[in-house]
Amino acid sequence: MESKGIHVVVDPSKCVGCNICELWCSYEHEGVFSRSLSRISVITYERLGFDYPVVCQQCEPAPCVELCPTGALSKGKLGEVNLDKGKCIGCRVCSEVCPYGAARMEPREARYPLICDLCGGEPMCVARCPTNALSLSKVTNVKVKPRNAAEAFAISELRKLADEWGVDVDEA
Ligand code: SF4
Ligand code: SF4
Repeated sequence: MESKGIHVVVDPSKCVGCNICELWCSYEHEGVFSRSLSRISVITYERLGFDYPVVCQQCEPAPCVELCPTGALSKGKLGEVNLDKGKCIGCRVCSEVCPYGAARMEPREARYPLICDLCGGEPMCVARCPTNALSLSKVTNVKVKPRNAAEAFAISELRKLADEWGVDVDEA
């Protein structure tokens, strides 16, 4: 799905699965360090030995914004998805239609979705990632280069997942 605004781009070959991005995202938005309250989710694939941070790709048009029945979601000037908690009825439609699985419901009372708002243009996850696995860009392509057969296999598996998530993966 094409994105015309900026969004957080993931380089999975640099991610070490430290979860720091999740903790800072949670602190920025909820005032506590909690992975379950983060707008970015680091998925660990033990069998393949890699981690993949899943985060809103700011689709244009965004299914969550289009289908929210109460107008609680809207697009901002950066292309980011903004939530008006006062209008949200917790129906989960946004969470179910997100093609990336990047709009989880807040787990405590499931009253509203956890959707990336790009932190006003300077995402905390990007700023705090110690390996530069996250960046802010209009470019949707992720470049990865296998160093051995195991990595090549992991990348081939990643391609299948990337197809599911609508992310382009090119070899460097
Ligand atoms: S902070 Fe960076 S390296 Fe750590 S899990 Fe998040 S994306 Fe991966
Ligand atoms: S959970 Fe809230 S933001 Fe999501 S579609 Fe329902 S009303 Fe809209």
